[in-house]
Amino acid sequence: MSEWIFGYGGFDPAKQGLREALCTLGNGYFATRGAAEEAEAGDVHYPGTYLAGCYNRLETIVGDRVVVNEDLVNLPNWLCLSVRLEDGPWFDLSAVEILAYQQELDLKNGMLTRRVRFRDPEGRVSFIRSRRLVHMRRPHLAVLRWTLAAENWSGRVTLRSSLNQPVTVEKTVALFASRDRAIAECGHAARVTVSEAGRFVELLESHARAWHSLWRRCDVELPSRPEEEKILRLHAFHLLQTASPNTVHLDAAVAARGLHGEAYRGHIFWDELFFLFFYIARIPEIARALLLYRYHRLDAARRAAREEGYHGAMYPWQSGSDGSEETQKLHLNPNSGRWLEDHSHRQRHVNIAIVYNVWRYYKTTGDREFLSRHGAEMILEIARFWASLTERNETTGRYEIRGVMGPDEYHDMYPDADGGGLRNNAYTNVMVVWLLERAFEVLALLGEHRRAELAEEIGLSPEEELNWRDITRKMTVPFHGDGVISQFEGYDALEEFDWAGYREKYGNIERLDRILEAEGDSTNRYKASKQADLLMLFYLLRTDELRAIFRQLGYDLDDATIRKTVDYYTARTSHGSTLSRVVHAAVSARSDPHTSWRYFTEALQSDVADIQGGTTPEGVHMGAMGGIDDVLLTHYAGIDTRGETLSLDPSLPEELPALRLAMVYRGRRVALDLTRERVRISLDGEAEAPLEVVVQGTKHVLLPGDAEIALNSASAGTETGKS
Ligand code: BGC
Repeated sequence: MSEWIFGYGGFDPAKQGLREALCTLGNGYFATRGAAEEAEAGDVHYPGTYLAGCYNRLETIVGDRVVVNEDLVNLPNWLCLSVRLEDGPWFDLSAVEILAYQQELDLKNGMLTRRVRFRDPEGRVSFIRSRRLVHMRRPHLAVLRWTLAAENWSGRVTLRSSLNQPVTVEKTVALFASRDRAIAECGHAARVTVSEAGRFVELLESHARAWHSLWRRCDVELPSRPEEEKILRLHAFHLLQTASPNTVHLDAAVAARGLHGEAYRGHIFWDELFFLFFYIARIPEIARALLLYRYHRLDAARRAAREEGYHGAMYPWQSGSDGSEETQKLHLNPNSGRWLEDHSHRQRHVNIAIVYNVWRYYKTTGDREFLSRHGAEMILEIARFWASLTERNETTGRYEIRGVMGPDEYHDMYPDADGGGLRNNAYTNVMVVWLLERAFEVLALLGEHRRAELAEEIGLSPEEELNWRDITRKMTVPFHGDGVISQFEGYDALEEFDWAGYREKYGNIERLDRILEAEGDSTNRYKASKQADLLMLFYLLRTDELRAIFRQLGYDLDDATIRKTVDYYTARTSHGSTLSRVVHAAVSARSDPHTSWRYFTEALQSDVADIQGGTTPEGVHMGAMGGIDDVLLTHYAGIDTRGETLSLDPSLPEELPALRLAMVYRGRRVALDLTRERVRISLDGEAEAPLEVVVQGTKHVLLPGDAEIALNSASAGTETGKS
């Protein structure tokens, strides 16, 4: 059982924030941080209950400016429960002698338990056991149960029960919001739900059953790696608590930091590029709902494009309730105490992530209805936006994209410039070519009738398509003089950064942007990246796909260029975002499996050990959690759903000799049991047709049941990136 339980011993005020985030319980409708029932918000504790998609907009005065921000709302704390022995003060951990303290998060059953044995100043020894759950099948319900025992005394507590034998208190709450379906009034719905809820043990039973069925779909086993396996389970647990089958009918998406805290104000970023496949591969209806969140904000994205003089749809870098741009105008550098202009809204590449996700969802599920009704329109409108942002350089005869930022947030403008973004971010330019190709593919897939209908609805003209075609042949990709691909035009003119000197001076330099700004300097001046930017290309696309794009653009992407480019940026990246190591683990999966495993295990520690020193208490990193799962599925198991058949080209690092997981491919459940030598594939669906699976390039026609296929270990070694 211990492989399903995260246990924490003792009470350490400095670690409460982290524990509260990691012990959050939720069900995709709402979530509650793992704060103690008697705890109040302050330096040590931060109780929080968040409803998916529930935001509020308020004004703040910063210096002489009024700044409007939209935030995820912290709802009233439903946990509050305390006790008072005789006429003593209310129970307060810091005012008693703690004799024993144990907290356990049970991933398998979705339950949090805390046991505290304490002696109060009067010498009374008491014991409290608290258990709680946020019900996974009945999304409006949560319940907690306290058992109190007096060990060496008897008397009264404020509950007015005579206490010399254990007493149990149960508190059941129901949470409704006015936007919920099939209710007349929230208060009434909540009262009815609570009155019919049943007792704690009954709720625990149905809740645990719901969790067990989720685990049957989502568990990943690493038979010889129990520590890593347990952390992967913790990640799956939090991903499922943030978006679950209860989210499917909501108009909500997954915030970068889950429903676990208020970092980034609960906003939605491009991070779903990293975690969406977790849902696509296991419970695709959740992924579909998250993509519909974007679809329902297509008009807001059209408005945003129009207001900036572009065509099509421009989704915001940070999104909240209505799809407006929610990126803050100013942000604080805690190192210098200065408020700084925030230019990160220029990360238009979020509009690449949306297309990538729609396409990946479609290719994995085969959901043509979604593609035709929703996905196609998003892809075409985003394609249109990029085409209108692209300019032709009359001197070079090539197309360029100006005024953007890539994923690397250390570079938002040229040194000494006053804003304005960057020219020709290679990741953006190459992915725009990729997505324009997808736009053509979508048009071809739609069929004549729907294609004509949609083209008419959005006013798509044949001239636009011709322009897109031209861009896919003549987009600019910048190179340094020495043949390394430039992260953006002009990167090679920046100064080299003194990595060793700064590491010695500051120790951890992941947040170099803050360190340098506090010194009156700027990361914009240096060849230093916060996170993988250009290397994202090798994370998202296969080497052969990339080669084809480069060839089409008239550039050569040979092995030497790839190797030089990967090494170059690896040496210049601080991994100041938890997303970065995920990408590096993927990029080196085949070319350097030991290094890949090192990045993989470091990325695994992101939240459980709060490796950034203080970010996890404000919410877990959904992108890192889901991204690690993606590395496991896509880069280690080698699952590729981009063709018309499921393809597998496993490449397990030596440190990971075996891996078991299950996924849903085009409606069929496929379970994989992998070692470095063979793969066992179990296919569900007795009465259904055989399924074609390509394993290391060879086609196998599988019937429902089990099949074992030997693997050729020599296949590892493709230069880099996806299999
Ligand atoms: C990263 C972004 C990410 C955001 C939210 C930032 O630190 O640089 O890439 O989207 O965090 O997770």
